[in-house]
Amino acid sequence: MANITVCMYCDDEEEYVIKEEPQHIKIRDIEFDTMFKYAYCKKCGGDMYPSELGLYNDLQMFDGYRERAGLLTSKQIKDIRKKRGMSQMEFSQFLRLGDKTIARYETGTIQEKSIDLLMRLASNDETFKIIQKLNKNR
Ligand SMILES: [Zn+2]
Repeated sequence: MANITVCMYCDDEEEYVIKEEPQHIKIRDIEFDTMFKYAYCKKCGGDMYPSELGLYNDLQMFDGYRERAGLLTSKQIKDIRKKRGMSQMEFSQFLRLGDKTIARYETGTIQEKSIDLLMRLASNDETFKIIQKLNKNR
């Protein structure tokens, strides 16, 4: 499948090539190097911004931080949610968070340490049952 998006220089939809380039990241007190993907127009060589690359780069940056800060990555959060057979909204409600909170974590937003702990508790079978019971009694 060809990669196509709008090129602002050609003023038309054009095919693009993807190049990986090193990126230095600094978030809070953590610094590290990672690779970002950039798109360039095949016709004119100009820079292009397909949305999927934006999401990819966000995850490179935020998951890179999470790995180094000892927090669950977006993939690990998704895996816990899938293990519980819940949608993003159901899992948010189960943990008594805002409806869109889990969706945001899975696409990049860095979770607080307290919520990281909460998600780990939902991953463990024993503590999952306790939360389930508490939610039933609400
Ligand atoms: Zn172009």
